[in-house]
Order: sequence, then structure tokens, then C-alpha cells
Amino acid sequence: MKQIILANDEVWHGNMILANAESSIINEPDANSLIPPFLSYPEILLERCAATMLMKLQSEIYGLGTIIPIRGYCPKDKLASIACPDQVEHQTGLAIDFIRPAFSSNDICDEFIRKASKFGFIQRYPKNKADITGAASEPWHFRYVGYPHSMIIENEELSLEEYHAYIKQYTINGTHYSLCNDGQSIEIFYVPATSDNQRITIDIPAETIIQVSGNNLDGFIITMWKTRNSGEFK
Ligand SMILES: [Zn+2]
Repeated sequence: MKQIILANDEVWHGNMILANAESSIINEPDANSLIPPFLSYPEILLERCAATMLMKLQSEIYGLGTIIPIRGYCPKDKLASIACPDQVEHQTGLAIDFIRPAFSSNDICDEFIRKASKFGFIQRYPKNKADITGAASEPWHFRYVGYPHSMIIENEELSLEEYHAYIKQYTINGTHYSLCNDGQSIEIFYVPATSDNQRITIDIPAETIIQVSGNNLDGFIITMWKTRNSGEFK
């Protein structure tokens, strides 16, 4: 067994954070964590992990150069003139926009959409979810949440808001969301933050890889990759 410690201020950090009218962005990404995912557009920056996965996605799509990125990370001070700057996902460094007329229906865009979830990206504002996301359809706006969350969101046809509500039914001492991927099992569960600002310590099997993200609201999403021999979660 090994332990991970969750501190309440980490609720505002991570790939899964929700930014909307009910959940303002608290954390600004570290400048050192921002890198350009497109060689031809060095001014467009994303958080390192999102940028790395977007580069891998590009390498899988022949002709992606015809899709033009127009916005990645936007610092809060550049958004100050708009209505609700702390709800704009571009402030997290986890969102990318492509030029709008081009991002409609052509083969390259279709391929990008088809492969995006494999690399951790979702279409954040689908047209049939506007009443839940609070935003009109934006087919050009992609958000990095990380795999396998992106795949589950796509397969279950959820918005990010719905996914956060959905994953809360899977708790540390109850049932975990589980799936298998190339011989590894992946388990996902939610851990609520404490109201008294205490750190939370949880025990996990030693031979597991763990990712933790806050939800930007009230708790943490734990993603646990287990090899076949790593034993049962206790
Ligand atoms: Zn956008």
C-alpha cells in the first residue's frame, strides 16, 4: 500500500476542473507549464500535458496543418474586458479554439473530432447541451480533460458538467467506475474535500499509477491504473 494526501486547495487544480457560471476559475497555470503545441503558431500556448497530447494527436492526422488554431491559453488580465472572465476555460490553459469557418465539416475536422477523445480532448460545448453548459454550441472549442475521462464523456454523450455529477456516484469505499484498457484496469472514483480544511489521506495499492484532479467545486477525481498483479483496492 502507499498513501496519497489530498489538500483542499488542490480542488482548484488539475485537468478535470470545471469552469462555468457556478464554478469560477481560481487557479492560474504556472507560466513555466505553458508550451506551444503548434510549431507554426508559437504564440498559442497550452498547459504542458494538454499541449503534449495535442502534438501527438497532430502526428496522427495527416494534413492537420489545414486546421488553424486561433486561441489557447488566455491570461485573466486579457479577459478582464469581458463579462465573466473567471468562467472562460482558456484561462486554464486546457482549451484550444480553431478558426471557425474551417472547423465545420471537412475530412480533417471529422478525423480530428473522431480521434480527439483518444488523446484526452472533448468537444466542450455540444449543441444539444447548451442548457447544461450554459454556452451555445462551439464546435471549434476543444478542452483537455485527459484519458480515459474524454472517452467516457464521449461514449456516454455527457457534458463535462454531467460527467462530474455522474462520477460522484463512484466513491472511495463504494463502487469504483472501472474499465479495461490493453491489459490494464482503470478505476475512477470521487473523494469529497473536507469542510474543515483538513488534509485527506487515502491508501492505494502500491503497484498503481494515480492521477488526481480537483473538480474546482468540492472534491477530487482519482484515476487509478492497475496492472493485473497489483491486487485489490482496499
Ligand atoms: Zn474557446
